[in-house]
Amino acid sequence: MTIPTCSYNPPPPQKYPEYKFASSGSGTVNVTYRAYYLDNQNSHSFHAPGDLNLDASLEPLLNSFVNNISYFSRMYGSSQYGNLSWIGHDGGKAGSIRDTFHNVGKALDIKWIEWAGGHRSNPTEAALEVHDSNENWQPTTHRRLVAVEAGLRKWFGYVLNRGIRDHDNHFHVDTGCDVALRIRRGSRARASMSCHYFIQDCINAFTAIRTSYDGIWGASSEQAYQILLSDLGMECFDPVKYINHYMLLLDYIMMHGLADQPAGTFRWGDTAVT
Ligand SMILES: [Zn+2]
Repeated sequence: MTIPTCSYNPPPPQKYPEYKFASSGSGTVNVTYRAYYLDNQNSHSFHAPGDLNLDASLEPLLNSFVNNISYFSRMYGSSQYGNLSWIGHDGGKAGSIRDTFHNVGKALDIKWIEWAGGHRSNPTEAALEVHDSNENWQPTTHRRLVAVEAGLRKWFGYVLNRGIRDHDNHFHVDTGCDVALRIRRGSRARASMSCHYFIQDCINAFTAIRTSYDGIWGASSEQAYQILLSDLGMECFDPVKYINHYMLLLDYIMMHGLADQPAGTFRWGDTAVT
């Protein structure tokens, strides 16, 4: 079977783009961007809305992300959702001497997502969105966090989540890989491991099974992944092989995450058109 790979190849530091935009979205969707900072009390804060300085190629992808997740939020979320309202970020700037897509404005670090109805998702403290400080599972905020990652994965091929070292407080997104589900047994490449973590997160957030959140793909992950697909009525799907199957899986993860429901609340293909 063909498994998608990615020869992730970040560019060296070079002239940073001058392109700026203030917001994303179309129609009723108008999402602003607020830059992250630590205040005097060392707590997480965001500046007033300001321009995002990125390569122009990211603007249509962010438009697609905010329009799409806003649609799913309106359709499946409670009144505390509605459209996305603003995104808190710590990106859109050069400054690293390492080879990275940040150096050319083709990456963004997302630290906060807020909806018009008041709900928010907080990758800044991602672990606490999953379990509180007493290790109690937080299904609502966990599912919401996974829904946000699913939304990002539809448009960005390289998404780093809290399982990846140094990414426990933001989602990193860039376009260094094609959009695909890269599951590869034994692989410790970040492009694969972040996918492994994502699917393990989906299993734990939505199915009755608990699987190790370790980024390592083995027999137990594979078995739990098949149960996730089966719960969603997608047991005949192969999201690794077919990109359209992957897109539908991501849609169903968003639906369940925003509705705060277990897998199977919505099932692919249950209802015939009459
Ligand atoms: Zn980053």
